Amino acid sequence: MNRRTEETKIVKYGLIKAGYKATVKHGRGTAHSWIDVDVQMVKPQPCTCETTPWGTVERCDSCKNAYQNHYRSILELVRQLTGRHGEYENIGVDINLI
Ligand SMILES: [Zn+2]
Repeated sequence: MNRRTEETKIVKYGLIKAGYKATVKHGRGTAHSWIDVDVQMVKPQPCTCETTPWGTVERCDSCKNAYQNHYRSILELVRQLTGRHGEYENIGVDINLI
């Protein structure tokens, strides 16, 4: 098994253990060295996000806070699991609140 596949598995398993539902993959092309983590989570309640008339979503404070807190935890976890230094370097974290 190559190192990238190994790393993907370690990160995915670590996130599951921490209670996150995540998709983990490596970047392609110029983003070859990046590890990308996509996490899906349920929106906090009460949620008062609004969709503007032109279709963009105005996030409510609960969602903003949830995003920021989880973003930090996930980034820190991925750093620990991979030994990467992260943020804007080679770890991409995206959280979808659904
Ligand atoms: Zn919200």
